[in-house]
Amino acid sequence: MLLRKILMNKFLSAFIVCFAFMTLWAQASGAAASPGNTVVVDAGHGGYDAGIVYNSPDGMQTNEKDADLRIARAVISTLRAAGTEAFATRPVDRYMDISQRARAAQAKSPGLFLSVHLSSTGAFNIYVTSLPQDQTDPGQFYLYSNRQRPYIGESRDFASALEQSIKQAFPNVSVLYTEIPLPLLDMIGAPAVMLECPSPAYLNYRDPAVAGRIAQAVAGAVRAYEK
Ligand SMILES: [Zn+2]
Repeated sequence: MLLRKILMNKFLSAFIVCFAFMTLWAQASGAAASPGNTVVVDAGHGGYDAGIVYNSPDGMQTNEKDADLRIARAVISTLRAAGTEAFATRPVDRYMDISQRARAAQAKSPGLFLSVHLSSTGAFNIYVTSLPQDQTDPGQFYLYSNRQRPYIGESRDFASALEQSIKQAFPNVSVLYTEIPLPLLDMIGAPAVMLECPSPAYLNYRDPAVAGRIAQAVAGAVRAYEK
């Protein structure tokens, strides 16, 4: 009986220590991700994954992975020039899976995360992940979407700032906002948005000025979001 009591006490102490540790860990990881304005920019695709491949009437080919990288680099240099810390998940042309992208982003404890892609249409598409509705399922606790869950309101705020800023910079282009399940954004413990820029049929990404205009719009959204 006594032995059982001792074991029970030990079990309870271990449980309490575990719980305290988890609480501290949760506070520490929340504190690391929320302050500051470090922006991580993720260029979609890379390596053997070219993304959308567009052949223009003049016989030139545009691979989405190259346009994504050009835009991401322009965004990073524009933000850095304004004194904002900015980093790439994929600084060069190489393949990365979404776990590698999420790890690269989390390593910088970002205050904002932006993934850059191209659209198959003439519009800009802005995405925030949509979280599962059923919060009573204990299994949900372990899903990656829990990393995004505390930030979903801020993700929507940044998406809204981005929508306004792009509309100002590209007044003749549609800007659409959508919430759909996006595994990469689910894995990010920071406000996280995906931006699809118009298809190369509508914007010539071989012209560096195009990436520069998009970068200015993104930097404007970062400033507006942080106000
Ligand atoms: Zn893409």
